[in-house]
Amino acid sequence: MLVTVVTVGAPRYDGCVDVGAEAEAVGGTGLVEPQERECVCCYVARAVAEHGCDGTLRLARAHRDATAPGAVGLERRLTRIGVTCDCAVEERGWWLRREHWERDLDTDELRPPAPRPGCGWVPSGSSQPCGLWVRPRAWE
Ligand SMILES: [Zn+2]
Ligand SMILES: [Zn+2]
Repeated sequence: MLVTVVTVGAPRYDGCVDVGAEAEAVGGTGLVEPQERECVCCYVARAVAEHGCDGTLRLARAHRDATAPGAVGLERRLTRIGVTCDCAVEERGWWLRREHWERDLDTDELRPPAPRPGCGWVPSGSSQPCGLWVRPRAWE
């Protein structure tokens, strides 16, 4: 995994993967693109699996930039609930609904399914998670 140095204010992710024509389509970041109407959680979960987390919200930002450029409060909203980097979206921000988890037959513990269920889709321009995700406390 390549480590990308990110300067605050002028992020550059060119070191992540080859930047080609495909990358240009998402602003030259080299990141996988959100699908049409894919929600931020499904995208970030999928993209973290692909690119890893670099300790920032670059994937959440990539989703925002591609789908809802007007949602400038996204990072603040995430930070407020303890989500300060992309992998925390799925750790602390939202969890897949319990009915989607799988039971590990060896340990008898629940784990996120692989592959994940497809996104439940959100209205285009929305920065909200789709119906697959709940805030952790909603699990209780
Ligand atoms: Zn992280
Ligand atoms: Zn989704």
